[in-house]
Amino acid sequence: MQPYGNPKVKIKHKKLPGRVVVIADRCKGCDYCIDYCPRDVLVRSEGFNTKGYHPPKVANEDACTFCGLCERICPDFAIYLEHENTQRITIQEPRRKQNIEFFPSPLRGEFFMQGDIACAEGALAAGCRFFGAYPITPASEIAEHMSVVLPRLKGVFIQFEDEIASIAGILGASWAGRKSMTATSGPGISLMNENIGLGMMMEVPAVIVNVQRGSPSTGLPTSWGQSDMMQARWGSHGDYGSIALCPKSCQEMFDLTVMAFNYSEKYRLPVFIMSDGIVGHMTEKVVIPPVEKLKLVERKYTRKTADKYKPYEAGPDLVPEFAKAGDGYRYHTTGLTHDERGYPDMSEEAHQKLVNRLVNKIKAHADDIIILEEKDTEKADVIVISYGITSRLSAPAIAIAKKKGIKVGSLRLVTVWPFPEKRIRELSKRVSGFVVPEMNLGQIVLEVERCSGKNCTVAGIGHAGGGIIRTEDIVKAITEAAHGKKK
Ligand code: SF4
Ligand code: SF4
Repeated sequence: MQPYGNPKVKIKHKKLPGRVVVIADRCKGCDYCIDYCPRDVLVRSEGFNTKGYHPPKVANEDACTFCGLCERICPDFAIYLEHENTQRITIQEPRRKQNIEFFPSPLRGEFFMQGDIACAEGALAAGCRFFGAYPITPASEIAEHMSVVLPRLKGVFIQFEDEIASIAGILGASWAGRKSMTATSGPGISLMNENIGLGMMMEVPAVIVNVQRGSPSTGLPTSWGQSDMMQARWGSHGDYGSIALCPKSCQEMFDLTVMAFNYSEKYRLPVFIMSDGIVGHMTEKVVIPPVEKLKLVERKYTRKTADKYKPYEAGPDLVPEFAKAGDGYRYHTTGLTHDERGYPDMSEEAHQKLVNRLVNKIKAHADDIIILEEKDTEKADVIVISYGITSRLSAPAIAIAKKKGIKVGSLRLVTVWPFPEKRIRELSKRVSGFVVPEMNLGQIVLEVERCSGKNCTVAGIGHAGGGIIRTEDIVKAITEAAHGKKK
């Protein structure tokens, strides 16, 4: 048992960043908070509230880890964590000669945390201070958590009327200088897609979380799938480079959200977190480091003087620098094809130059962006290529196949877009086959086939979502691939 889940194990932590507050008269005495508190901090009080119930009271404050489970579990919003924002940081803005107060997220330590909440905490740790979304399962908990915590950190939460407005809102907030995020699921992404293209064209840093479910259309609202993988690459019209990261655990919901913000600032584009309903809704150990230990990429503001600055003039890294609204720079931005000044330019030459740069700024940095997790690939006859939750579903099948004497390795795509073409091509020359399980009827397998050519067999194992791929199906595909059969 982990010490944080066992109230008898003494833990040392710094003074809590706040306190647990009970609104006694709101309580209906269900005891959920008492039962679910992993540290036995709460007990039922002897007194009655105005409704005649015994509300909980904090009996063992020293044991509290500020995990927030009581706050989330209470059906009547009768218990909450009150944060002391004592860690105010003052950031100097040299050009404006103005000090900005910033409140970093106070949460740190080990927690038993839901994936969606870990994603929200990752965003807060990365400095996200604007969140705009329309609630949709299985992503709603991200919005719920942001609505509670962002105001405490002097951030802004807006529940927009729909997803079209949500994505427009986060692009605007980012343009105004705030790190911003939205979270949704398949149908919401479909609505956002035009403005995602706008974000790509205007080169706006932002993070878009897709907690995928079974689709198409409304599909399986409260269930799971990986049905939108191609949407993250080709969802909006036109050519542009795209970055999509696939978490497989609650910890990665935190870590990869921080990374998504870093990529979005470094390469100036909206970055996707492609989670799914299982990872979003599972609850596991999550370690949140102190903010000062996180490597955060901040916005690249220009040092050029106003008369030399052009908003879309890119240096050798192909990424233009920002100027902040109100700093005295003249700039223009538009979804129309534009020149380096940001002014519309309908010429073929301008269009070629701009769209090629949007694609190449990601292609040129693919080695920096692509993260792969490889195990036993060097001597493998068969490699299982997976991403997100399917990597966890594949693990027992790989173990069974190994026991049968098959040399099988695994390659997990932490970064799915840009696609790791080079590595897949290399490996395809050495193995007899790839097996690609995914919770859709064959999306990433098409990319694997494209990169492998005729070098080896490629077997896709599709599942439409709402259930899980059976271990025996993966074992069977591995066995067949080991014998060189194409599925
Ligand atoms: S914050 Fe967590 S540890 Fe503290 S009282 Fe609530 S559930 Fe218990
Ligand atoms: S979960 Fe909420 S309503 Fe239930 S006992 Fe705790 S404070 Fe009261």
